[in-house]
Amino acid sequence: MKRKKFIKTSSLLLAGGVIAPYVACKSDPETEAVPFTNWARNYSYRAKNLRTPANVDELQALITNPGHQKALGSRHCFNDIADSPDNQISTALLNQVVNIDGIQKTMTVESGIRYGDFARQLDQQGYALHNLASLPHISVAGACATGTHGSGVTLGNLATPVRAIELVTPQGELIKLDREHPDFYGVVVGLGAFGILARITLDIENTYQVRQDVFQDLPLASMQNHFNEIMSSGYSVSLFTDWLNQKVSQVWIKRRTDRPVDDLGNDFYGAQAATRNLHPIVEITAENCTEQMGVPGPWYLRLPHFKMGFMPSGGEELQSEFYVPRDNAVDAILALEKKRDLIHPQLLITEIRTIAADDFWMSPCYHQDSVTIHFTWKQHDKEVRALLPMIESELAPFGVRPHWGKIFSVEPALLHQRYERFPDFLALAKKYDPEGKFRNHYLDLNVYA
Ligand SMILES: Cc1cc2nc3c(=O)[nH]c(=O)nc-3n(C[C@H](O)[C@H](O)[C@H](O)COP(=O)(O)OP(=O)(O)OC[C@H]3O[C@@H](n4cnc5c(N)ncnc54)[C@H](O)[C@@H]3O)c2cc1C
Repeated sequence: MKRKKFIKTSSLLLAGGVIAPYVACKSDPETEAVPFTNWARNYSYRAKNLRTPANVDELQALITNPGHQKALGSRHCFNDIADSPDNQISTALLNQVVNIDGIQKTMTVESGIRYGDFARQLDQQGYALHNLASLPHISVAGACATGTHGSGVTLGNLATPVRAIELVTPQGELIKLDREHPDFYGVVVGLGAFGILARITLDIENTYQVRQDVFQDLPLASMQNHFNEIMSSGYSVSLFTDWLNQKVSQVWIKRRTDRPVDDLGNDFYGAQAATRNLHPIVEITAENCTEQMGVPGPWYLRLPHFKMGFMPSGGEELQSEFYVPRDNAVDAILALEKKRDLIHPQLLITEIRTIAADDFWMSPCYHQDSVTIHFTWKQHDKEVRALLPMIESELAPFGVRPHWGKIFSVEPALLHQRYERFPDFLALAKKYDPEGKFRNHYLDLNVYA
């Protein structure tokens, strides 16, 4: 019942766009005390102040204030990456579309805008993004800073369409970096270490429609023997599993209707076509999920699993996610499958996705086509944290890299070894932020350590 009540309340908050303690800098110049949590409410920010600039000038002014600063996006990370020992600067009011350029095929947005805030407008003007995460509720800058991704064997993460950024540096200057700039690929997936992005220019393409088909109970042996065919069977494919009964519980296949679409039939490698819309966590209503059953719809209403204005995922949860090179995916999944009796009691659902390689120094997909094994956990902090070292050690032979915005316990020294460009990233962070204005506990532990 408690969870039901939480889901209902949070859905209302999200639907109404109400996020309690955001205070615009203009209307309340006073310091705002912050007993304030992330979206999942598993982490209470320790920052002493939260300020919400109404425009880029105010953002520049706030950054030069004394003390540590840190951008706060839509608060969807599960760890302390967005926290600050002193001040958080919310980008909630930097939420405008600046322009959509059909000639250059770009759109420029303010950094705090959420994908779900502009997707309909972009579609109505005839354009689309290449991909979205499982939810449209997250800010563009927050997603890019952590290498957030959707699924698709040929699709890079959500930072890959970034063509240029405007960054307010720790000194309060507004600078522009594009793909030609030598620092660009270090700064975009920047973990909040370089300053605060004010605006972002993204590649766009002509709009397209997507149909979504779901299959149930894929035999584990089919996943093992046909992994690449299954993950390539659509533009974007996700596997959901509770690790039980030697089965993958659900296969979600999203296919563009402007490309050839074969009839997948009722039997997909031994999985059966679903007969109604489903939520990946079967106990939760599919009303929160994007339309399935092969009904075509605009890209922004099919590529995410969850609808804007509705509770995404489970709500009362924790998340961890681990990237492995695509060639090692089946072995990595089977290694974890052997640990199902330990994993299952803490689990709401696992999702397996593919992401194409990219060039961002701290992207977990840097120069590596990847598969992610994601865990939506019950909100059992102690038990989940006790499990993580086992999962990470099972995946260590595959060079596992954790999602920066979720819960992990990989030793910083090991983490650094797994990022070829880590020394360059560290040097660049020190160059941009010599006084450590944007340092926080997370960066001290995982980057500066
Ligand atoms: C229900 C749910 C589903 C999710 N699904 C996915 C998924 O499908 N795929 C995936 O990869 N992840 C997923 N995530 C994780 C999450 O979306 C990302 O980690 C993302 O960072 C969240 O963006 P945010 O705006 O909430 O960032 P925040 O948590 O607010 O901030 C994250 C980091 O970004 C920095 N940042 C924010 N704004 C700026 C800015 N303007 N300039 C500079 N730095 C900035 C912050 O300082 C911080 O370091 C999910 C999370 C939840 C809760």
